Amino acid sequence: MSEPLPPDEIARNLDEVRRRIERAATDVGREAGEVTLVAVSKTFGAEAVEAALAAGQRVFGENRVQEAQAKFPALRARHRELELHLIGPLQSNKTADAVALFDVIQSVDREKLARALAREMERQGRRPRCFVQVNTGEEPQKAGVAPADTADFVRLCRDELGLPLAGLMCIPPLDDAPAPHFGLLRQLAADCGLDGLSMGMSGDYEAAVQLGATHVRVGSAIFGRRDRP
Ligand SMILES: *Cc1c(COP(=O)(O)O)cnc(C)c1O
Repeated sequence: MSEPLPPDEIARNLDEVRRRIERAATDVGREAGEVTLVAVSKTFGAEAVEAALAAGQRVFGENRVQEAQAKFPALRARHRELELHLIGPLQSNKTADAVALFDVIQSVDREKLARALAREMERQGRRPRCFVQVNTGEEPQKAGVAPADTADFVRLCRDELGLPLAGLMCIPPLDDAPAPHFGLLRQLAADCGLDGLSMGMSGDYEAAVQLGATHVRVGSAIFGRRDRP
């Protein structure tokens, strides 16, 4: 677990991130309300999440199914309005747990997983919204479908399997300027007729908002330094 910041500092950080989102949106003629702030609480304990909830934050992101399972059921019992997003890789054998726990799954990136999700949603009667993760930098070690395969994969997920597809998600390469990746993701989403764009993290969420992000995933700028990425 990472060392949590004091609650008042988390509240101040949230205010600052919200202000910056609003400014970035206004600069390009968007409404701040078009952007959902996903507070990424991975590696932080429930007390950090409680501090964010007390400061009005409702949407959270986690990158590991097991960690989220340990943390969120109790939080959810106290905060019915909480919305939880899976933003990390999902193994097919964790599909049932993910469908049961998350409201949004942002990391759909291969056919086997898409089929497992469709089966599991049918079985559980729960339909978390999905994003297709796109490997915009075509990095071999990174998850996500290649840009050139995105349209076909979206057709499979949405039209053939009937997954509730909300949009596309990307994590640009660390060493690249992010804007071209955000622009590419926006173009791919438009080509597929998808509205949702999950892009932008602590270092680049303002640029992402200016390029059309509907969801920004912000961790360290809210909760502080983590002891793992
Ligand atoms: C950890 C993580 C984030 C948040 O990163 P910060 O730089 O701390 O804002 C966003 N997206 C994904 C997929 C992550 O794993």
